[in-house]
Amino acid sequence: MEMRFSIDAEDGMLIEWPDGHQTRYSLAELRSFCPCATCRDQQGAGAGEMLPAADPAATTLLSIESVGRYAICPIWGDGHATGIYSYDLLRERCGCLACRLARGKAGSLGVRRSDEGGAMKEG
Ligand SMILES: [Zn+2]
Ligand SMILES: [Zn+2]
Repeated sequence: MEMRFSIDAEDGMLIEWPDGHQTRYSLAELRSFCPCATCRDQQGAGAGEMLPAADPAATTLLSIESVGRYAICPIWGDGHATGIYSYDLLRERCGCLACRLARGKAGSLGVRRSDEGGAMKEG
């Protein structure tokens, strides 16, 4: 199976992964983590999160070009087309419940262990 990308003006971009997983990004969200040097500069200068430009063209996706077999390059309505989104990045940013849970498990997981050494006492 191959990666599939579909663009919907209202729902944003839907990525279908070869393993059957699905990731959905709103276009504003996708634009907000554009990995190109220009946008990264702006992201760094700001409060960590770049707000999409007021220009609606900036969050309008005209098309998606594939870059090799590992990344895509969205062509934005305002002419911006320098952001190369690797599949890794797109998967890393997936905000679905399964991925959020998986990330949570990778962190510290407090497992409570009941300490019952002795025999149960009836009373
Ligand atoms: Zn950019
Ligand atoms: Zn996911």
